Formats: sequence, structure tokens, C-alpha cells
Amino acid sequence: MLKIDNLHARVESQAILKGLNLNIKAGEIHAIMGPNGSGKSTLGHVLAGRPGYTVSAGSVTFQGQDLLALETEERAHLGVFLSFQYPVEIPGVSNMEFLKASVDSIRERRGEPAIDSVSFMKQAREACKNVDLDISFLKRGVNEGFSGGEKKRNELMQMMLLQPKLAIMDETDSGLDIDALQVVANGINAMRSPDRSFILVTHYQRLLSFIEPDFVHVLSGGRIVKSGDKSLALELEERGYGWLEDVA
Ligand code: ADP
Ligand code: MG
Ligand code: MG
Repeated sequence: MLKIDNLHARVESQAILKGLNLNIKAGEIHAIMGPNGSGKSTLGHVLAGRPGYTVSAGSVTFQGQDLLALETEERAHLGVFLSFQYPVEIPGVSNMEFLKASVDSIRERRGEPAIDSVSFMKQAREACKNVDLDISFLKRGVNEGFSGGEKKRNELMQMMLLQPKLAIMDETDSGLDIDALQVVANGINAMRSPDRSFILVTHYQRLLSFIEPDFVHVLSGGRIVKSGDKSLALELEERGYGWLEDVA
């Protein structure tokens, strides 16, 4: 699904990713943990093709294609989905219009006609139900006045409608109370499939007790300095990241 080799990336003149390697097979969930500022969000941005980053070395292959050679939109159309650590508000655009536009843009790319409104509404209502959001959220402005938990659930709903191949969830659990965390975890678990992979960036072991990852990696200083299974997350919770500095 995804093969990252010796990835180096910088913002302006600051090197952030410094030789990152990661292999993700179809169907796997990889959790990425690590200290603040270690480059976790940068990794998601570089994979999704957000502007502002310069890749200075290395390669990323996604389903056999050179991902870094593709435009941001092309990556989305191929099924790369990035959730936002800080979801943006888009006042004046209804959530439903926004979601439908994102689905239609992917369909257009595949040579399919825009989804008809009735089918879309049906899917959107179903997605709302899955993430425990009232359907009135479809009529509101994108993220406008949504609470932190509602934004995260809305983001999950967007993922459900887009059905990505690779979902990168950046701190989808931050700021959630335990019930919302359970809803988000259930949603992600329901999306697990043999042909879909996940990168879950998280600071907390808590999320991983609801979503069992196949691998846990520690990103520190722009590289993956340790990988393990879910027990690594428990160990990090107990010991922090300091003991890994020698490894880095
Ligand atoms: P994490 O998500 O692991 O907390 P980030 O990827 O957000 O880390 O950031 C990694 C480092 O890159 C930090 O030191 C951060 O300040 C820096 N950085 C990220 N974006 C920018 C930017 N646009 N300009 C300058 N420095 C940046
Ligand atoms: Mg951070
Ligand atoms: Mg971050």
C-alpha cells in the first residue's frame, strides 16, 4: 500500500523529516506516537501533498505509484485522506454541500457522474448515524460553531463518505471525552478493511485500547526510532519518550 524510503522534508530552511522509513501493507493500522514537534503532522502533510513542504530526498510509493510526483488533488482522488489536527471552519458553505463536493470531485476524476442528491442524502444520514451526529449537522456551515468533539466526528463522517484507501488521522482523539473517543474508535474500527490502511497519529495510549493497531512507531527528531506492537504504546505511557533518546 505505502512504502516510504529515507524521506527527508523541510519547511523553508528547517529540516523536519530526516530519513524516515515506513512500510504499510493493505489492511494494516499503524499508530505513530512521539514527542511534540517530532514531525508527525509534517509526515501527514507531506503524504497528502499539502503545500509548503520541500522533499529533499527519499521516495514514497503508494499502490505502486510515485506519490510525491502527484498533485494534492490527485492523491486525494487515489484515496489518500488526511484528517485535520485543527479542523477549519468554512462559514457560508453547508456541511452537506462540502461533503458532496468532495465526493463528486473524486467521482469526476474516476469518470463517474456526480452522485444524485437522494443517494447522497441517504449515505450522509447513515454516516451521521454511525458517528452519532444529529442530521441537522448536514445543514450547518462546515465546522461552524461545532464543538471539538463534533468537528472530529464530522471529519470521521467525511472519511466514511470518501472511503479512502489510506486514511491519515492526525490527533483525531485529542480533546475528546471518553464517550466521543469511543464513537470515533467505533467509526474507525467499522472502516477497517483488508484493502484500507490507516496511519493514526496519537499522543495517548487510550485510543489504542479501543483500536488495536498492528504496529506502533515512535517518531522522534524526524525519524522513526522505535517500532513495536501495541505493547509499545503501553510502555511509552509508563516511561515517556526520554529513554528513546539514546536510540535516536
Ligand atoms: P508534531 O506533529 O510531531 O508535533 P510537526 O510536524 O507539527 O510536529 O512539527 C515538526 C517541527 O516542524 C516543529 O519544530 C515545528 O515547529 C516545525 N514546523 C512545522 N511547520 C512549520 C512551518 N510552517 N514553519 C516552520 N516550522 C514548522
Ligand atoms: Mg503536535
Ligand atoms: Mg502534530
